[in-house]
Amino acid sequence: MKVVFWGVRGSLPTPLTPEQVRGKIAAVVQRIRPDDLQSQKSRELFLAGLPPYLFGTTGGNTTCLEVRTDDDRIIIIDGGTGLRDLGVSLLKKRDPGTDFPIFFTHFHWDHLQGIPFFGPAWIKGNRITFASPFPSIERTIRGQMKPPYFPVTMDAMQAEIRFAYLQGESVRVGSAEIRWKRMNHPGGSFAYKIMDGGKSVIFATDSEVTDREFQQREENRAFFESADVLILDSQYTLEESFTKFDFGHTAYTMAVNLAVEWKVKTLVLFHHEPQYDDRKLFGIARSAAWHKEQLGTSALDIRTAQEGLELTL
Ligand SMILES: [Zn+2]
Ligand SMILES: [Zn+2]
Repeated sequence: MKVVFWGVRGSLPTPLTPEQVRGKIAAVVQRIRPDDLQSQKSRELFLAGLPPYLFGTTGGNTTCLEVRTDDDRIIIIDGGTGLRDLGVSLLKKRDPGTDFPIFFTHFHWDHLQGIPFFGPAWIKGNRITFASPFPSIERTIRGQMKPPYFPVTMDAMQAEIRFAYLQGESVRVGSAEIRWKRMNHPGGSFAYKIMDGGKSVIFATDSEVTDREFQQREENRAFFESADVLILDSQYTLEESFTKFDFGHTAYTMAVNLAVEWKVKTLVLFHHEPQYDDRKLFGIARSAAWHKEQLGTSALDIRTAQEGLELTL
């Protein structure tokens, strides 16, 4: 199974500002010593030694995740602005006649904005299935794409459009099984767990983790325990979480606590706060690692979600 991150920002798209780009260039230039410029190899070494917040960016697109199953089926979760770039990449590789299931965690704007710009939806022969455990899936998805919000309705899309109201406990896509769990978020949201080839990935964006998720109940154990990857809402700092209680998002410290509690192998910090620049976000990842050490564990691997990040399980 492979997981690719196409949109990692929360709330709204957050492109780099001209000032931030200038700041990165200025900081890099200040670090250059004459020896760094001597050869191709020294230049490459210099670039490789730069901190990730200077030589790259977490990215500005809102939530969109691609999962490739072991039998090469595609599963998409959420249609934030990252869905457009995923569509561009898919059109280079896939012939018409492909199934594209898109699972939705919930319907806040930052999880829908890419839908009208998903290229494969405009190609005859493709099949797009919009799926969610919310019964309003068809009405809500159709309702976000019509005049005056967008020039045409979804009827203009050339692909075959289907809707799936997810009931029961799980569905299958190719070799993968997908389960869901209701999380605490204004209006509700669902986390998804994808299991394939003995590995598991949990995607729990837009979730305010509470005591409930820590309770040693069978439902929690079956969902969280020993997951290989937990991609979890960690929009806030600890301080912020006190002033934004009940906003529906989680502090990174709480995200680490939950991952440690359920013996998760890799935690990916997700749904980044639009006010935070790259430097702050990588600082949060360092603080999260420090917090983990304070809990007396070294087993957990902590990553920051970045556009283009690929995890192979
Ligand atoms: Zn969101
Ligand atoms: Zn939300």
